[in-house]
Amino acid sequence: MTVRHPEKVNKPINPIKKKPDWIRSKLLNSKEFFLTKSIVNKNNLVTVCQEANCPNITECWSKRHATFMIMGDTCTRACAFCDIITGKPKSLDPFEPIKIALAVKKLNLKHAVITSVDRDDLNDGGATHFYEVIRETRKNNPNTTIEVLTPDFLRKGESYKKLIEAKPDVFNHNIETVPGLYKKVRPGSRYFSSLELLKNAKKIDKNIFTKSGLMVGLGENKDEILQVMDDLKSADVDFLTIGQYLQPSVKHHPLDRYYKPEEFDELKSVARSKGFLLVSSSPLTRSSYHADEDFAKLKKNRIVQTNAQSIS
Ligand code: SF4
Repeated sequence: MTVRHPEKVNKPINPIKKKPDWIRSKLLNSKEFFLTKSIVNKNNLVTVCQEANCPNITECWSKRHATFMIMGDTCTRACAFCDIITGKPKSLDPFEPIKIALAVKKLNLKHAVITSVDRDDLNDGGATHFYEVIRETRKNNPNTTIEVLTPDFLRKGESYKKLIEAKPDVFNHNIETVPGLYKKVRPGSRYFSSLELLKNAKKIDKNIFTKSGLMVGLGENKDEILQVMDDLKSADVDFLTIGQYLQPSVKHHPLDRYYKPEEFDELKSVARSKGFLLVSSSPLTRSSYHADEDFAKLKKNRIVQTNAQSIS
């Protein structure tokens, strides 16, 4: 049997806490769900929905909304919260850009979300491959908007600029947790580098929408969450997503607690008051959950904000 996370084999056992009633995945195995599944399987595509064991998969795939994960299924980092396989990845598939472009067409997606594993083994962290996937997807689907959820390109210089050159409509990079927990939860990453990446993406392209996600329930406190909100706002991030951390296995980072739905509502109103264009905050919020509908809201909110600024 393949071990998904060799680096976690000797970690202590952290029993998984029982899920509360409000964390229930919807069961909707519709015709559309199986259509999405067959397109993914026939084209040998990797999705984060499956690899990260996302609780929203039946709902999203029933709406033909799958998030493609490019550059393979194996990640070179070893984050303590994540269920993606870790280890030595395979070489890049040169046909992946066209495969993704055609899958987007078959699924008839209005808004495509593309993410990837971390590829620290590549000189540019995979920025050029992202560029090619975006360009090919756009060429074959001119009316589809494109959202990317990227790695941090840590120690890859300015390679991320190549990706921005392809002009994705939304640039998403998850901050994931509060800085005090980085060492335990995201040991291969740096909080301020992630913030810098988001800030620079917006500096390069003023029209791009920037987005970032935070998980709660890892052991952070409220003040730390508020600090992350302020930091993301200073980095000019437009859209903040907040969702509950779900511990994937007994070897992963221990879940501290389940936040109640009303606590997510409170975080949402605090974040909105800080000036984010859009905030999605609920137990099952994930970076790509409802991404198409949220993109429409983002555009609308920017127009309202621009109009208000021109009046004042
Ligand atoms: S929330 Fe995102 S990762 Fe989860 S199933 Fe939906 S599209 Fe896939």
